[in-house]
Amino acid sequence: MPRTGNSLTHPMWNTVRKFIYNFPELTYDGCRVRCTVCNVALICRRRRDCELHLNTKTHRNKRDGGPEKRRFYSDLCLALISCNIPFAILDRTAFIAFWKRYAECELPSRTSLRNCLSFAREDIERRIKSELNDKKLWLCVDETIDRKRQTVVNVMVRTMEPHRPSPAILLASKRFKKCSGNQILKVVLNSMSKLEISPQQIMMFVSEGDANMLSLAKSLKESANSNLLHITCKINDLNLVTQTIRKSYPRVNDLISSTKATLIKSLKRTRFHYKLSPDIPELPEPIITPQTTWLKSAIYYHRYFDHLKSIILKSDPEEAAITEKIHKILTDPHVKEDLQTIYNNYVELAEGIEKLQNVSISFADSVRILNDIHAQLNSIQGEKNKVVVEKFENVLNKNSDFHLLKLISEGATIEPLSSWRDYFEYANVTSLDVERSFSALKHVYTARRLKLSENTAETYLMLGIFEKSYPRDNGLAGS
Ligand SMILES: [Zn+2]
Repeated sequence: MPRTGNSLTHPMWNTVRKFIYNFPELTYDGCRVRCTVCNVALICRRRRDCELHLNTKTHRNKRDGGPEKRRFYSDLCLALISCNIPFAILDRTAFIAFWKRYAECELPSRTSLRNCLSFAREDIERRIKSELNDKKLWLCVDETIDRKRQTVVNVMVRTMEPHRPSPAILLASKRFKKCSGNQILKVVLNSMSKLEISPQQIMMFVSEGDANMLSLAKSLKESANSNLLHITCKINDLNLVTQTIRKSYPRVNDLISSTKATLIKSLKRTRFHYKLSPDIPELPEPIITPQTTWLKSAIYYHRYFDHLKSIILKSDPEEAAITEKIHKILTDPHVKEDLQTIYNNYVELAEGIEKLQNVSISFADSVRILNDIHAQLNSIQGEKNKVVVEKFENVLNKNSDFHLLKLISEGATIEPLSSWRDYFEYANVTSLDVERSFSALKHVYTARRLKLSENTAETYLMLGIFEKSYPRDNGLAGS
């Protein structure tokens, strides 16, 4: 930047030029610092002077068009994010024409709206703080792998209200190239401190049973609150039980994997199947995990075995190697027997998993479902089932405070359990909230949006989830 004559040169020239580049709204000609938004010359000799000006109400209102306009931008931001509509719609000619014809206010540019995202985020954070203030909380943390093979850690809480279930709120969604237990702990503690949650508010923690999560549970208990109860996700536990069943029935496993390949992967055969089976529902597709679907599939095959067999046997055995394999499996009389046994023994387990997917059921109902499954598994005779019962008992009680939760639900009279009962009335025993937030993330962090920064993706997700559960109109916290 050229200096403009010695007499006019800023006395702090050397100091100012070092920091002025950090403030894109300010210019410096070697003589005066000017604000391009307010169009005034400023006395800014230190970095702090610049920051003070940029934070003044006058400057912010001029930049954002005043509180009303900012509110409109912020609401538009929220509406687009909640409906998962990309901001690029603001550049579409058809949308601009529609807006011009019917809306009275001016449509903001994509850049203005993106700039407004930080205000929308501040607004939501303020509403989250007010919603969680001083309440007892349920915490759930989980990790997944995203499209770029990075680890994503999501942290969610629910308030533990007596008499009603409360929706989950996302506190953080962070990405890591490689993730350690320590990093996860940091994400949880940072997000809690940012949203003014004290560790003593956390009463229950749900996670998967892997080493990272167990060490997180231990650290959380040690760092703050020895009263915190930790359990592993019960759907995940039941999926481990299903895995044991799957291993005990290799013939059915073969049937499911080969029929899937035969019916689903070939379009020609799928059409043939639809044509001949108008009244049969489609094969179950993976919803939560392959294990859940495996048991559902086994029950589906038990129900429609004869029909599916007749269709598949009609197709040409020479067509593909897989068809030949399936011909062999379908004509094996033991397969039908196995399907009948699975149905007789484990249909309650499959139904129980289905019921637990309702995240609004009471804690007592969740315990009842698990107890019923346990009792039913115990009533089954036979060696094969012994392993299943062992697995069930092992996963349900391993590394877990589940027995204490059961005592609370049964009305324990020991303190402090007896005084906690109300808080746990709707305590969720699964990590489905976080699983669902991962599905939502897939819609945000799409193949076309891989450049989205961690912070923007987190903001989108946070706003989308919060706005759905706590819409502004219902008069909840915030204005
Ligand atoms: Zn200004």
